[in-house]
Amino acid sequence: MNKTIGIFGGGQLGRMMAQAALPLNIQCTFFEANTDCPSAALGQVFSTKAENGLNEFIESADVFSLEFENTPLADVDVLTQSKAIHPPRQALATAQNRLLEKALFDKLDIPVAPYRAVDSLESLKQAVADLGLPIVLKTATGGYDGKGQFVLRTADQIDQAWAELGPAKSLIAESFVTFSREVSIIAVRGLDGEVKTWPLAENHHHNGILSHSIVPAPNSADLQPVAQDYITRLLNHLNYVGVLTLELFVTDKGLYANEMAPRVHNSGHWSIEGSVCSQFENHVRAVAGLPLGSTEVVRPTVMINIIGKHPKTEDVLALNGAHLHLYNKTERAGRKLGHITLMPVNQSELVLLCRQLAKILPEPLALSEDMNI
Ligand code: AMP
Repeated sequence: MNKTIGIFGGGQLGRMMAQAALPLNIQCTFFEANTDCPSAALGQVFSTKAENGLNEFIESADVFSLEFENTPLADVDVLTQSKAIHPPRQALATAQNRLLEKALFDKLDIPVAPYRAVDSLESLKQAVADLGLPIVLKTATGGYDGKGQFVLRTADQIDQAWAELGPAKSLIAESFVTFSREVSIIAVRGLDGEVKTWPLAENHHHNGILSHSIVPAPNSADLQPVAQDYITRLLNHLNYVGVLTLELFVTDKGLYANEMAPRVHNSGHWSIEGSVCSQFENHVRAVAGLPLGSTEVVRPTVMINIIGKHPKTEDVLALNGAHLHLYNKTERAGRKLGHITLMPVNQSELVLLCRQLAKILPEPLALSEDMNI
């Protein structure tokens, strides 16, 4: 079988998908504005800016997928006139709009924080009256990594919040969730409907960007079946094929869904080394119509993002058992440049590795040393 998979987007997620596809003799092509993107080393990049770029990209592959969540639906509609894309258009359309996403969670009885749609100053005031404060006001479309959000704590901030986000026209006001931690679950569904799930990741953010994930999430035995049930409902309802991610808050009333991503996810990068079959390989398998691989954990894992500045490669590789993944990106504040996977054999090795890593990374490491894996 010599299939080619065409991928909308050409960032690090596409790069790692193509890396997983290569041993299966599956090639990837990419559709991306910047032809010098992280995926470029792994396959041909068709420019979104070229006059006939979309048609040439469609010609270049047998079946399609995406690594960029804001892939234009108009492009997908042109594609589906002749070829198939996994995940399905409906999953993409839903994930691109927080209001549609919340409506789907409601429909499938997946708990979410109380919310209201907001499209005017009056409706914002009404949402504040209905939900109480604090609330998180978010643009319905286009936000990521905490951008396009305003935490409204007092009524005198209403005008300011509206001035900042109002121009987006379609907003969602959510009750502020008091959570003990943030977790995510990743699952894959094959063409034949088989579903496999990885263990929950516990995710830690710094300045709104994922800094590190611990997998399996400590003390999550009770949460795992619940999260698995929620993501399976989504996968089956959407007749989904490929990898789906669901981000959740752990609260004293149980799990609340925050959002879903219709793609492989940063909190699943650990699976390249930590799982029998990684999120990338299983996504490729699903899209190509192949049997899914085991999602079993090989060893508990900590995945640390490299953000803004590169550490010295030789310093990272000198750490016992560390795996380094660089995305071939230039340094810029807040930019994800790569990640490091640690697979310590026990707690004391973890503490040691974290201390060593803190000295190597140019950016401060927000890992606590009492992590219980
Ligand atoms: P999002 O873009 O929806 O993933 O939000 C980015 C981050 O903001 C999340 O990872 C949470 O830390 C925080 N956040 C989002 N929504 C809420 C909420 N309703 N209550 C409390 N914190 C939130």
